[in-house]
Amino acid sequence: MSAVSPVNHHPSDETLLRYAAGRLPAGASVVIATHLEGCPVCRARFANFAAMGGRLVEEASPELMAPNALAEAMARIDALDATPPTPPPARIVRHDIALDLPRALRRCDVGRWRWFGPGVHLSRVTIPEAPAARLTLLRVGAGRALPEHGHSGLEFTQVLTGSFTDEFGTFRPGDLAEMDSEVEHQPVVDKQGECICLAAFDGEMVLSGLFGRLVQPFLKL
Ligand SMILES: [Zn+2]
Repeated sequence: MSAVSPVNHHPSDETLLRYAAGRLPAGASVVIATHLEGCPVCRARFANFAAMGGRLVEEASPELMAPNALAEAMARIDALDATPPTPPPARIVRHDIALDLPRALRRCDVGRWRWFGPGVHLSRVTIPEAPAARLTLLRVGAGRALPEHGHSGLEFTQVLTGSFTDEFGTFRPGDLAEMDSEVEHQPVVDKQGECICLAAFDGEMVLSGLFGRLVQPFLKL
């Protein structure tokens, strides 16, 4: 990836292709849109996929190609390019936390922070056209570990503030972590401060360990 980009972790080619073809689940699409807002490298990758046309998408994964996918992809690029320079960020304030909301989230309903575990709070994000999508803001205190967990589907996590480290490296604001069902990982938030992420789950999150077994029955995302 480009040395000038401050973003070190990006979505896979397959994920960007699925996004361009309109075939990512709604929650994941919002996370990828958030990543593109802050990542010129991926905006260029995305534009290349679209410029190569539906041919590439069709050859790569014919079942992923939606009708009008190319036109929709180009419209999304136009929308990104046409965005007026830095409008004042929308902010949400929940308890003592203020957060600059990514543009992709501003049409969504963002719920209250709810206690999830020691040092861990969740806020449910509801997408108007896909209210069942599993999309959350996750706020984890400095030095805290998230419960170790695996997945029955894909998980996309975009860092908004702070940073965390797991087996795959350190993820800072603008970075995207893409995990599949083969992966069990335990992110730990770095000691400098709390970390707020936007996370989409494609399947069920499967918690492991004692904490997970205690919390799982109460987890209704
Ligand atoms: Zn990127």
